[in-house]
Amino acid sequence: MKWKQADAGMAGCAEQVLSVLEAHGHEAYWVGGCVRDELMGRPVNDMDITTSARPDEVTGLFERTVPTGIEHGTITVLVGNYAFEVTTYRVEGSYENHRRPAEVAFVRDLTEDLRRRDFTMNAIACDLQGRIVDPYHGADDIREGVIRCVGAARVRFQEDALRMVRCIRFASVFGYRIAFNTWKGLLEEKSGIQYIALERIRAELDKMMEGPHPFLGLNLLGRSRLLEKARVPVTYTPSVRLLSRIDDIPSSEAAVRWALLMKACGLSGQEAGNLMRQYTFSNDARERVEAQLDLDEKVKGINGEANLREQWVGLVLKYGQESARRWLLLCSVLPQESRNTAADELLAHGQEWMDEMNIFRLHDLEISGSDVIAISGKKGGPWVGELLKHLLFKAAAGHLPNTKLDLTEEMRRVMVTDEKV
Ligand code: ATP
Ligand code: MG
Repeated sequence: MKWKQADAGMAGCAEQVLSVLEAHGHEAYWVGGCVRDELMGRPVNDMDITTSARPDEVTGLFERTVPTGIEHGTITVLVGNYAFEVTTYRVEGSYENHRRPAEVAFVRDLTEDLRRRDFTMNAIACDLQGRIVDPYHGADDIREGVIRCVGAARVRFQEDALRMVRCIRFASVFGYRIAFNTWKGLLEEKSGIQYIALERIRAELDKMMEGPHPFLGLNLLGRSRLLEKARVPVTYTPSVRLLSRIDDIPSSEAAVRWALLMKACGLSGQEAGNLMRQYTFSNDARERVEAQLDLDEKVKGINGEANLREQWVGLVLKYGQESARRWLLLCSVLPQESRNTAADELLAHGQEWMDEMNIFRLHDLEISGSDVIAISGKKGGPWVGELLKHLLFKAAAGHLPNTKLDLTEEMRRVMVTDEKV
């Protein structure tokens, strides 16, 4: 097999795995995402292997193995710097509660193994000679850009309801259509999504958001109303006027895309944060979205143009440079009519004003809390933090050089005049 889309080093190492298995009388094939992506002409990032060898046979044939999912027949085989999941041909036993089954049965026939896979494009195998095994005509569906269940859609979605989210994710990421019966099956079986852990749904949604056209997938999600049936129901009707801008945000900026989605749904930072917490987003991911929406709310509250630069400096200090940068990006894709004057001005000058700031954190001040206490001769207390914040703002806004001398002078001035800091 001559791989065009895979790193040659990875393909070479995978070949060794297939060769060893074949040399010991087993069948072995590349399968799933890697074969699909190769046929699509998309970069292949990892390679899964399916084999007639039993897990203990696989383990016995290779030096470095990890029993990743041995009860499901999956052994990770390490060759060179690469790791390959090698899974024994299997069928899945009875499905309980619309989730992947706990029990599997190993089989000796590749076609059986391919039958348990979700979509025809994911049910294609390829051997060392480049011979394609494609009993469900996945290659045709790839050529036509169609997502289609292997077998009867309703049954397949009943077996494992996560497949419905995967269906929409794949349609979105690849820009494919969903076959009529597959879509119909999804609509009929959507209530099964309640049995699926939110974490697994979230992982699919993340992949969708990191793809080239999340708008497509978000539309499908909206039209299907699939997530209304999830354990934590999502029932918002986002503003299409806002949401339709989502593909303009680079796919590397998923946090900004999430923020736009939440904004389009009319959620505040806190509301978005709550939803994201329930959907098991990482704290980082959640806080990034919260900060953008909070910042957005603050800018909405600014009226008049007086001291906009100073207000912006204050916001950048409060939310951090990265959040400010993300918010500017978010703002830049919004339709003109959903920005106030302050937002327009910030869009024009915010980045430049931020570049002019040469200090962003208390930590970077040339004076510390203990310096402040020593110089003042007073007892420490909350006032120290307040004073430092005042100094940081002065230095960041360019009113004061960030030197110990200037900062001390300002500190004395503030303390003598007892100016409110
Ligand atoms: P990705 O590019 O996201 O990795 P993938 O197709 O490789 O796509 P994986 O989740 O890595 O997706 O799964 C590997 C293969 O396992 C799939 O190609 C498919 O054949 C099968 N598979 C994965 N999840 C399911 C599922 N829920 N039901 C049936 N088969 C599945
Ligand atoms: Mg994969």
